[in-house]
Amino acid sequence: MEKKYDIIVVGSGLGGLVTATILSKEGLRVLVIEQNNQFGGNLQTFQRGTSIFSTGMNYIGALGDGEFLNTYFRYFNVFNELELSRLDLNGFEEVSFGDNDKRYRYAQGYDNFKETLSSYFPKERKSIQNYLEKIWDITDRFPLLHLDRYKSIVKGEAYMNGGVSDFIESISENLVLKNVLSATNSLYGGNKANTPLYVHALVNRQFIHSAWRFVDGSQQLVDAFLKQIRANGGELMNKTEIRKIRFEDDQSVIVESHLGEQYSAKKIISNIHPAKTLDLIEDSRLKKIYRQRIKSLPDTAGMFTVYFVLKKNSFKYLPRNIYHFKNQQVWFDEKTAWPQQLMFYTAANSQNPEWANTASVLSLMSYSEVKKWEQSFVEDRGQDYLDFKTEKAEKLIDLLEQRIPNFRSHIQTYYTSTPLTYRDYTSTRNGAAYGIQKDHQSPYQSVIMPQTSIPNLFFTGQNTNMHGALGVTASGVLAAGEILGLDYLTNKIYSSIR
Ligand SMILES: Cc1cc2nc3c(=O)[nH]c(=O)nc-3n(C[C@H](O)[C@H](O)[C@H](O)COP(=O)(O)OP(=O)(O)OC[C@H]3O[C@@H](n4cnc5c(N)ncnc54)[C@H](O)[C@@H]3O)c2cc1C
Repeated sequence: MEKKYDIIVVGSGLGGLVTATILSKEGLRVLVIEQNNQFGGNLQTFQRGTSIFSTGMNYIGALGDGEFLNTYFRYFNVFNELELSRLDLNGFEEVSFGDNDKRYRYAQGYDNFKETLSSYFPKERKSIQNYLEKIWDITDRFPLLHLDRYKSIVKGEAYMNGGVSDFIESISENLVLKNVLSATNSLYGGNKANTPLYVHALVNRQFIHSAWRFVDGSQQLVDAFLKQIRANGGELMNKTEIRKIRFEDDQSVIVESHLGEQYSAKKIISNIHPAKTLDLIEDSRLKKIYRQRIKSLPDTAGMFTVYFVLKKNSFKYLPRNIYHFKNQQVWFDEKTAWPQQLMFYTAANSQNPEWANTASVLSLMSYSEVKKWEQSFVEDRGQDYLDFKTEKAEKLIDLLEQRIPNFRSHIQTYYTSTPLTYRDYTSTRNGAAYGIQKDHQSPYQSVIMPQTSIPNLFFTGQNTNMHGALGVTASGVLAAGEILGLDYLTNKIYSSIR
């Protein structure tokens, strides 16, 4: 442990990568430590034979010129490294219910979204307008999304209150319209009782601006960040699980790996789930009540995914996501027979863009479904677990065939993952898809700040701010802002793109 860093970032998910990029760009000596072989957390891709699959990011929003993420990704110098394919301008999401043939599409662009949806529900034009105005109004209150007027936005929290399902319920009497507007809730682990409106608004608005698929998977985003961190003089270490964090004083922290190796820095930023981070620290400054609060916060549901290798030139690439529901019940409810909903997409590939080589179907799944195998680890959970996965995969494909008849005829082979897979690969507590569940009924309880009562301990990632490319990027800016000064940093980012 000869070398002392300014910053150690533990975990190389998007939150860790963004924070490390910003701080290394500012000349700080940064070390990123990742437990897995591959960097990227949920951004990493995995390979089966020659097929590549994304783990946890199949599309990304607001990357058009001047849009929220475009600004940040240009500042990080990663934007020009990306190969993206824009989803259909007139239908990037498509919603359907049961065996009804009717399809409802979300279009990109404020007016296009309004006109397209109004064409299905001509009598509901005003409700759709009201919906959009509210979504825009709420998201206009987030200073990090509007750097051009960062200082003038009153940093009030009025937007924190209110649930999405209550709001959608209030805008119209039309059940189908309400269900269409709620249909993408699996993107945020939507929970009818708790999910705040601001979570729905942030997720939907970014994609209404613009929606993009990564060509050949999301690993390219990881590679672009790693390149920048290295170019800025930062260091990267994989296959190193941090098991202990010890603070010597306000300017010195030591982390210890599974091999007993120690690394030292002035400050540490944890990209690990906050509850799991606290388990690594014994320090009286972290009060019992704080620990209890963080540990008691529930997480979102997890995800069951079937990854398909498709027969060659058999199924066309679809420039949209499909959200299909067994019936008109759109909010996830673990007491209802599984699966009640699915999200299906084909991956964009550079080799044969017209045809899909691979596709995935995802459905929210409660941890209770896999809890009985929680003492086991990947590849060693027993035959009954394998049988469970096959049974669930076949049920999900049955539901998919309600929407795409004979889909099975296109499948060459398939693989599956459950919430336990995520738990073991990305250390997400209970394999939750999106980390801590935000709750409009106790909005401040469910939001974790990047700073802590230990002056040189900070959090980054989806649990501190919000999940998804946009939310996690903002979490990285907030964490780096704690160290550099948020006004200084936002001004610098804004000046760089003006
Ligand atoms: C199935 C699924 C689909 C999704 N689809 C989309 C999408 O299409 N678009 C979108 O915008 N978002 C999507 N998301 C959400 C998005 O992927 C996540 O919000 C985001 O990637 C989380 O980033 P993070 O930095 O918070 O954490 P993570 O990605 O969880 O990274 C944490 C990292 O910390 C490492 N780590 C943990 N413990 C230790 C330790 N002790 N020592 C060292 N390293 C450690 C982990 O290995 C991991 O690499 C999806 C998520 C899921 C699960």
